[in-house]
Amino acid sequence: MDALFNLDDRQVALVVDDDRGARLIASTLLEESGFIVEQAADGIEALSAFERSKPDIVLLDVIMPEMDGFTVCREIRNRSEEGRHIPVLMMTGLDDMDSINRAYDAGATDFITKPINWAIFHHRLRYIWRSSIVSDDLRRSEMKNRALIDALPDLLLRITSDGRTLELREPGGFDHVFSGAGVLSKKINEVFSEEVSRPIMQNLHRALTFGGMQFFEHNLQVDEEARYYEWRIVGSGKDEALAIVRDITERKRTEERVFRLAYHDILTGLLNRNSFKEHLAQALAQAQRHGRYVATLFLDLDRFKRINDTFGYKVGDLLLQSVAERIREGVRKSDKPARHVDSVSRLGGDEFTILLPEIVHVQDSAKIAKRILESVSSPLMLAGHEIFITGSIGITVYPMDGEDPDTLLKNADAAMYSAKEQGRNNYQFYSEAMNASSFQRLSLENALRKALDRQEFLIHYQPQVDINSGKIIGMEALLRWNRLELGTVPPADFIPVAEETGLIVPIGEWVLNTACIYNMALQKMGLPPRRMAVNISSLQFKPQRLVAAITSALKASGLDARWLEIELTESAIMKNMEEASGILRELKQMGLRVAIDDFGTGYSSLAHLKRFPLDILKIDRSFIRDIPGDRDNEAIATAIIAMAQSLNLEVIAEGVETEEQLSFLRDRGCGAVQGYMFSPPLPGEEMKEYLKKEPELVAWAARFAKPMGAARYR
Ligand code: C2E
Ligand code: MG
Ligand code: MG
Repeated sequence: MDALFNLDDRQVALVVDDDRGARLIASTLLEESGFIVEQAADGIEALSAFERSKPDIVLLDVIMPEMDGFTVCREIRNRSEEGRHIPVLMMTGLDDMDSINRAYDAGATDFITKPINWAIFHHRLRYIWRSSIVSDDLRRSEMKNRALIDALPDLLLRITSDGRTLELREPGGFDHVFSGAGVLSKKINEVFSEEVSRPIMQNLHRALTFGGMQFFEHNLQVDEEARYYEWRIVGSGKDEALAIVRDITERKRTEERVFRLAYHDILTGLLNRNSFKEHLAQALAQAQRHGRYVATLFLDLDRFKRINDTFGYKVGDLLLQSVAERIREGVRKSDKPARHVDSVSRLGGDEFTILLPEIVHVQDSAKIAKRILESVSSPLMLAGHEIFITGSIGITVYPMDGEDPDTLLKNADAAMYSAKEQGRNNYQFYSEAMNASSFQRLSLENALRKALDRQEFLIHYQPQVDINSGKIIGMEALLRWNRLELGTVPPADFIPVAEETGLIVPIGEWVLNTACIYNMALQKMGLPPRRMAVNISSLQFKPQRLVAAITSALKASGLDARWLEIELTESAIMKNMEEASGILRELKQMGLRVAIDDFGTGYSSLAHLKRFPLDILKIDRSFIRDIPGDRDNEAIATAIIAMAQSLNLEVIAEGVETEEQLSFLRDRGCGAVQGYMFSPPLPGEEMKEYLKKEPELVAWAARFAKPMGAARYR
């Protein structure tokens, strides 16, 4: 019979029955099966026998004196962990349904009816025994699993296919990030941002649709720091998946550290040689695709060794760090895209390289080089020492100076040496042609700086004529530069440089003064007073300085403000919108007239300009050039004239060269013109003569006079 129960070692059975006979039969049968049997005759006895012998199975009669079987069963279940799971077989009366129900309620595993059919008692017992072993194993393995899960650092989530969380286990390391966000009570997409919830839902669906484990990572901003999580999602039912989430922030941080070490220079935090070359290679590939230039700057500090020898390595290191920061600054200032900042490296020692991936003009790289040299060379305070250091830069430009990183770097290095030979603290292009154009630009700049002192500037004056009356209503002052040994330089060639360098401000003030003095001189000669128009650069268009300059020019010349007119471009006004109306109002109060120059070429609209107190609109000569004939220009010129009239502005057309242009403009109601048809800009002496010819113009105009064509200008 042993085989029936398959008992490994001696198991204990407790038989509880007040009927001595029944107790005996049961005991004998159990002993035969290999159990050690304990007996108890009533409930109280049963409980103490249970405590003492720790049975593996209990056979329990229902009806007993003192304490009935139900109570005993309940007690056993409640007393201990073993008691909770041990199989208890209750012996109830036949057909006593109530007892059977109560037995289950009290926690019995099964029941057997009295009188007991001893022949099948065995089988019944074996069945119960077996299932108790199975459930025992199950319980044990569940306990093991639970312990295992508890030991895992992962967060577990059961999620439904529509992103609702059914169950959440969040270990301490997660600091309630998930539960705190409300993961259990809300849907995933209500808890997390789109950026986080989208991949969760995508992987959830993938797991449910295709099976298998889905992996992905994301980060979350937790208390102002980024934490990283790795998700694994696996389907665990028709509409349900299990997500295992691991906090991988530490790992990520380590990776970042490793990355930094591998790709960056420890001392300065800049890129190292290898990663610079990688960046350069990428930039070259991009540039090739888009047909752009890429410049590589190679900077070497001048006499850096001396610093190390004099102040020691510590100060040397500090210096390299500050230089790194200054180079970064220099690059950042010169161009917005932040990625440029990532493209500065220290190759080693005192050698730095700078990648300029998207330059439009080769000259731009020279500008940046210059700016870097300037910022590097301003004095530094390091560890109590004031230190001066300069650098020399070599520049190569793809595709002219090389097509791969190594060649470009090598050539930039060579160019840097020639910068050192030139006396340090300067930059040199690798290619001579670029050096030449760079040199030209530089010498233009230098010459421009000296031009004022050398009195190389002069002014030509171009008359403005009232179409209807033929009178010369005024003139525009146009700057000319007589450059030493090179002759007259047209304004288009030097005004942009003057603006970039800021030299336009003093030059422009000189024009203002000179033009006012000239205009006053004409009046003193007895000529009728006329307006003098002076061009004002947007750089001059600043509150205090402009007003002060105009005031002093008027005062010095004695000219009445109403004979001075300033010409501004649309962009000058649009650039300084807030300041503009203030300045203009002030100028109006002084009695000046204000003209908008080159109208139509900017981006502003009349609607914008309406807000400003303006007097005159000058139609840019590009719209006059091909009229009549060019349909677009005809339409634009016509529209500008009509709009100006509706705003009560005078119109002056620039660049009028032919009678056809003039009559077109006259027909449209344009009041005044300026152009070669009447006169090119003239030196002061010649202008005086021209003004004397006014009566001829008046006579000429009279031929066209119409009954309604009253002169708008006097
Ligand atoms: P702007 O103010 O539009 O001056 C008119 C320009 O048109 C002058 O060129 C003038 O010579 C030219 N022009 C006049 N009539 C005709 C014509 O019939 N046909 C053609 N093709 N051109 C004509 P310029 O003197 O070369 O001056 C060019 C620009 O330089 C000026 O354009 C103005 O923007 C700027 N400029 C000149 N002097 C000064 C100055 O003192 N200060 C500032 N900031 N800019 C100035
Ligand atoms: Mg002008
Ligand atoms: Mg103009």
